[in-house]
Amino acid sequence: MGSIKVLPDTLISQIAAGEVVDRPASVVKELLENSIDAGATHCSVEIEQGGMKLIAVRDNGCGMDALDAQMAFARHATSKISQFDDLQKIESYGFRGEALAAIASVAIVSMRTRMKDADSGIEIVYKGGKLESENAAGCPAGTEIVVRNLFFATPARKKFLKSETTEFSHIAAVVSHVALANQGVGFELKHNGKAVLQAPAAQMPEARIAAVLGKNFLEDALKVFFKTPSIHIHGFTGRPGMALSSKRHQYLFINRRDVSDSLVSRAVCDAYGTRLPGRAYPAFVLNIDIDPAEVDINVHPRKLMVKFLEPNRIYRDVSQAVLQALSGFESGVLQAPRAGSGVVYRQAGGQSVQDALEFTEAILGGREPAGIDPRDNSEIARNDIIGQIADSYILVFEEEGLAIIDQHAAHERILYEKFKRQAQEAAPVSQKLLAPVEIECNAQESVFLKDAIPHLERLGFEFDQWSGNTFVVQACPALLKSENLQKVFREFLDEMIEGANRNEILPERILKTLACKAAIKFGMRISHEEQEQLLRELSQTPNSATCPHGRPVRVVVTFSELERRFYRRK
Ligand code: ADP
Ligand code: MG
Repeated sequence: MGSIKVLPDTLISQIAAGEVVDRPASVVKELLENSIDAGATHCSVEIEQGGMKLIAVRDNGCGMDALDAQMAFARHATSKISQFDDLQKIESYGFRGEALAAIASVAIVSMRTRMKDADSGIEIVYKGGKLESENAAGCPAGTEIVVRNLFFATPARKKFLKSETTEFSHIAAVVSHVALANQGVGFELKHNGKAVLQAPAAQMPEARIAAVLGKNFLEDALKVFFKTPSIHIHGFTGRPGMALSSKRHQYLFINRRDVSDSLVSRAVCDAYGTRLPGRAYPAFVLNIDIDPAEVDINVHPRKLMVKFLEPNRIYRDVSQAVLQALSGFESGVLQAPRAGSGVVYRQAGGQSVQDALEFTEAILGGREPAGIDPRDNSEIARNDIIGQIADSYILVFEEEGLAIIDQHAAHERILYEKFKRQAQEAAPVSQKLLAPVEIECNAQESVFLKDAIPHLERLGFEFDQWSGNTFVVQACPALLKSENLQKVFREFLDEMIEGANRNEILPERILKTLACKAAIKFGMRISHEEQEQLLRELSQTPNSATCPHGRPVRVVVTFSELERRFYRRK
């Protein structure tokens, strides 16, 4: 009897605060987004003790008059939408009108705000959801919100906070995301009095990325630019071979809104395909601008996720955009860096893909490669091969510096691309074996081999089955060296069985495994001529930046890097 009550507003806000603000970083996010919605061109964020003691966000946005300033703290008070239809085409960050009420309910919040043309501003102080004071105040145009003693009113929540460093690192991540999403706006972040990030207003994209993520990211990134009447995708994506083991370095902005979207991440990863190692993720900063009506951002309380009207089209466009960036890079099309940006796009390989199959002989094929002009002035011929070290790497003196090539990875990619092309064209180049090679399998291996045989035949193999588990190779691809065949097959079968539960279609797995097993080993001495031929072929191979498993084929130590390391310049 009489036990059901309507909850008081402060309590409702405190409960809601659990959803909207779970840690100092989410307070910073809400405040910054409000500043940007208010049209600020500069925001400064000051933090003390990981935000647990103090969070201050100051902006030069539109400010509020006295009435709006009071209203701002009421639950579901927002200036941003007034009817349901507005939700469908929202362009501002906020719209729930919950953040300020929620923050004010769990901390001590003082807000000073003034509109540009107003003579005076107003200062309002809330403590644990209760209005403490409200006075006219002199203050600069814009809004300053200072949050002290976060969660003092909800000790249970406070207990969940981590160390000062951890909380601050979350704040730094938030500011980074917001600063990347809003490149026109200037940002400043201080922790315990020290400047941590400074990004002036109206930076060029490259300069902003360098200010936020550091210059290294750009040195390893390719430019993405894709535009149709309905979508604009732009930004940077990591060079193949620079993949990372965490998705933390993926920055996605849809209509300037910072989101994480698995569809887009997958589209990017799929575009990399074999250029990416198994559990690696490319780093990227991608902006997608589309009609706001095409995307629903109201599916998550903190607006981290989105729903697309046409997910298939988005998937296709994003992969296409990234693929273009990657293939531009691989075919050696030097993308012109913006003037003064200091961005270096490295060139991989020199020759056109068309020439690639002129040389059907792999260096282990044993035969004299036909059609190589000794005066061939290809990329490699102009560069000096220094030699092989550790029987594993080939060193090349290049214009940019010292290139170190992983001989196995390089050869693996060469073979993979040649096999693939021959299979696609159904024109395998085969060689009859003088002495057929016998392969003895156990039951398990025999099952795998039987499945693989039709695909292997498409690559130029010919098999006979002598008895249940004995197979005989009568012919093999001309790309392979016949002496090694038995060993190659043993390793091939081992690998096929070990990787059996990998989520990859059979012909692709066969292709990769065969390329890997047939390639020159890491730790095998090869002659100078063989080194030359390997590099020449590599320069004519598509996707040459990485091996089929996505590991880098070459690492370049640039002269500028050497100068830095010898302290010849900073
Ligand atoms: P929402 O952003 O969802 O509208 P908030 O609780 O974050 O809800 O803010 C409530 C309202 O307060 C906003 O709609 C806006 O009118 C006003 N406001 C908040 N912060 C600022 C600011 N920095 N500058 C100007 N107006 C602000
Ligand atoms: Mg808001």
